[in-house]
Amino acid sequence: MTDAADFPVRVRPEIAALPPYRQGKQAGAEAFKLSSNENPFDPLPGVVEALQATTGVNRYPDASAARLRERLAERFGVTSDRVHIGAGSVSILYQLVQAVSGPGDEIVFAWRSFEAYPGLAVVAGSTAVQVPLLPDARHDLDAMADAITERTRAVIVCTPNNPTGPIVTQAEFDAFVEKVPADVLVILDEAYAEFVTAPDAVDGMRLPGGAGRDNVVVLRTFSKAFGLAGLRVGYAVGHPRILDAARSTGIPLSVTAQAEEAALASLDAEHALQERVAVIAERRDRLAAGLRAAGWNVPDAQGNFVWLPAGEHALAFAAAFEEAGLIVRPFAGDGVRISVGEEEAVEKILRIAASVVDHLPEGHPGRGLA
Ligand SMILES: *Cc1c(COP(=O)(O)O)cnc(C)c1O
Repeated sequence: MTDAADFPVRVRPEIAALPPYRQGKQAGAEAFKLSSNENPFDPLPGVVEALQATTGVNRYPDASAARLRERLAERFGVTSDRVHIGAGSVSILYQLVQAVSGPGDEIVFAWRSFEAYPGLAVVAGSTAVQVPLLPDARHDLDAMADAITERTRAVIVCTPNNPTGPIVTQAEFDAFVEKVPADVLVILDEAYAEFVTAPDAVDGMRLPGGAGRDNVVVLRTFSKAFGLAGLRVGYAVGHPRILDAARSTGIPLSVTAQAEEAALASLDAEHALQERVAVIAERRDRLAAGLRAAGWNVPDAQGNFVWLPAGEHALAFAAAFEEAGLIVRPFAGDGVRISVGEEEAVEKILRIAASVVDHLPEGHPGRGLA
């Protein structure tokens, strides 16, 4: 924590109090970087060529990334005014929260969930309302609906939930949206949608019009399954006026022509994408099963990561993984998230995980029934 007095200029006190940004650890040459849910594969076929073919870096990009919008609109069966492109879906989250909330307003989301959420409200000047997850690490949608007040301007639903893994089902989501006032924005963050194998999972793109309800905006990204994290490109599907409001708060021209081209080329490589996603999902299921067999209580894992509810041991266990050349992501006091990366890392993860689980006392929530 820092203090406004430490700054050479006057800084908003709530901004001064934010911890400085720290990226997941970079891995050394020998280590596996499993801390940021990145894709271990090279870019999809055609992406490198598309990047090389993109000329004109002296020119500004197309402000609305119209070709990519058209292409995504076609793919999801909506009109292109229902698609908005951002420099990563995190930037669209910021745009939306800024567009709907300010001082005195509230943003409701589950916790623990995506690390970016608490900061969104702070930057907008509004207040984050965190609703604890259920014991099995799923969203407590009843409690989230109960947390909505006159002041609520947005509710964020993260499925699969980063960092714990479980999905929200379509039935749960539909019932939840019924309870949310029609003038409160529901952000359905589906950053890991492509990895989901649970047949009953919510799919924000299933309903005509993008989400079926005018107050629901669905977020997806090219960073995870498509492997373009370094290029920064994500998208939203929802009501055109809500997306206009998001554009108004966003920094213009932040989606580069390179990012747009790479995203278009990735969409052309649908078949290769499916194959890779299947490899990761199989690897994830094998990893989760191995961890459970070793005695860990691993929540349902539907993204490209698994969660170890290590509680107060999170930092110590992460250090043990790191010593073995595995860079993982600890959340102090809560747990350790491990991304599903290279195949060679799986056996190593299982070995370390089995060696640390014995430090958990009987009855610890991290211990499974195995
Ligand atoms: C990774 C992630 C995103 C998207 O990140 P971008 O790279 O900005 O597109 C959004 N939501 C969640 C929950 C994520 O984990």
